[in-house]
Amino acid sequence: LLEDIMRKMQLVTKNHSVELLQNDDGMMYGDLVTVRQMFRIFLDNSTKYTPQGGRITVKSERVENEDGLFMQVALADNGIGIDKKDQQKVFERFYRVDTSRTKAQGVSGTGLGLSIASWIAQQHDIEIRLESELGKGTTIYLQIPLVS
Ligand code: ATP
Repeated sequence: LLEDIMRKMQLVTKNHSVELLQNDDGMMYGDLVTVRQMFRIFLDNSTKYTPQGGRITVKSERVENEDGLFMQVALADNGIGIDKKDQQKVFERFYRVDTSRTKAQGVSGTGLGLSIASWIAQQHDIEIRLESELGKGTTIYLQIPLVS
């Protein structure tokens, strides 16, 4: 799924370098259409909020811990980043960070993408963690339960 999404992204994203580092793979139960949509929301945001020439990297790695077997997927960009004070709020419906940086990217939106993505994640027991630094970039970590 990730390979397919990234291949299609590479075709349309001419101004960014896009790389998939797939260390492992595995099988999950889920709804293909909505899980694909979830990945697209995160990756479209990376494209929108990363200036031309930026880098978008997706890494997948199998991890096993006391809670079970998971695929950890890290979707990283080196774009404008999100201020600490906004990092939880961006998952709320209609919330958009309103700064000159965001405006400089010239992107408009509804502020719904991340709330839809987090709803899809919740339906699939996927945990989302966001790490971001203003001016440096954003990484979304997804912990996806695998079928053992
Ligand atoms: P739409 O859902 O219509 O595309 P949106 O992109 O504004 O609109 P969300 O996807 O919910 O909506 O994102 C909310 C806000 O979080 C964005 O407006 C942006 O300020 C910030 N944001 C999301 N992803 C990133 C990212 N990768 N880098 C920097 N800021 C981001």
